Amino acid sequence: ALFYRQLPKVELHAHLNGSVSSETMDLLMKRKPHLNIERGMTAILREQRRSLDECFQVFKVIHQLVDSGEDILLVAKAVIQEFAADGVKYLELRSTPREVTETGLTKQIYIETVLEAIRQCKQEGVDIDVRHTGGISTCLNRFLVAVDRRHGPEVAMETVKLAEDFMLCSGGTVVGLDLSGDPTVGHGKTLLPALQKAKNCGLKLALHLSEVPSQRDESELLLNLPPDRIGHGTFLHPEVGGSDSLVDKVCKQNIPIEMCLTSNVIGQTVPSYDKHHFQYWYNRGHPCVLCTDDKGVFSTDLSQEYQLAASTFKLSAEDVWNLSQQAIGCTFAPEPIKQKLEKMWAELKQQIL
Ligand code: IMP
Repeated sequence: ALFYRQLPKVELHAHLNGSVSSETMDLLMKRKPHLNIERGMTAILREQRRSLDECFQVFKVIHQLVDSGEDILLVAKAVIQEFAADGVKYLELRSTPREVTETGLTKQIYIETVLEAIRQCKQEGVDIDVRHTGGISTCLNRFLVAVDRRHGPEVAMETVKLAEDFMLCSGGTVVGLDLSGDPTVGHGKTLLPALQKAKNCGLKLALHLSEVPSQRDESELLLNLPPDRIGHGTFLHPEVGGSDSLVDKVCKQNIPIEMCLTSNVIGQTVPSYDKHHFQYWYNRGHPCVLCTDDKGVFSTDLSQEYQLAASTFKLSAEDVWNLSQQAIGCTFAPEPIKQKLEKMWAELKQQIL
């Protein structure tokens, strides 16, 4: 277990509100006792199984607990610190900006607050880069603004405009756009103009694709953009009802896939760990990035996900190392930061492997 914690890691698929730890949840519940929310309502144990719908219900509960700028600052800082403590050297956090009239929260303030959390963590030295490269101060936490597909094309367009504004004024912290939310609701084709606009203005696209079987046509369409990374991609390959054409598009464009083992097994889009689509893509030599998705909701962390992949798919320590190193190339970071990360990995390799 120590090896997996020490292993330097890159986290590219983490939803802020799904990543809140039980310790932070306890704090929020104490702040808002009138909501009568208990622990079991904000997290699912790894032995348990839920429908995807039930998983999405959990986010509704969490959103009640996290509904002000003050809450966002608290959870964002805690989540970044927890990832750092787990050996994550580079994190791309994503979150859907929300407005809450009662607390004065606006989408603008929402994003500003996440960026403020990233800034504060950097100042407080959570930025691992500072510790490992002798004071070279680079912010290794990045932010992807998320579009919830449930909210439709107008909101998506509004969010893209916000993301673009922040990309231009955040000094490189806002790097891309995520498309997420309940995959059974809405159709990607209505969101194409917003996604295209995001791409045109230089935002990188990380899109949840084929999370459920019914998304085949949608994936076919969205892969033409093309996205810069795919979230889940569970039902892309023909063995599970996808198609050769989808696989071809993904392979030809070499689009990395973010894979979240525990999340998929708990949410039952994948029947068991050994049947996870990681196997299919990994065997083809396709870039696969292990991620947590929602470490709070699914009671996991990134070390655990690497350990799970290693034991399920019989990966050697060397394989695991290569897997974590390959993720550097899949980040939305500019080239100098990728090089810095490569250097960090090279330095740590002798100590850890
Ligand atoms: P937030 O965007 O920080 O509020 O994080 C929670 C949100 O992330 C949820 O409301 C969903 O929109 C999205 N999300 C989290 N996990 C998943 C997933 O597995 N599939 C699709 N969307 C997800």
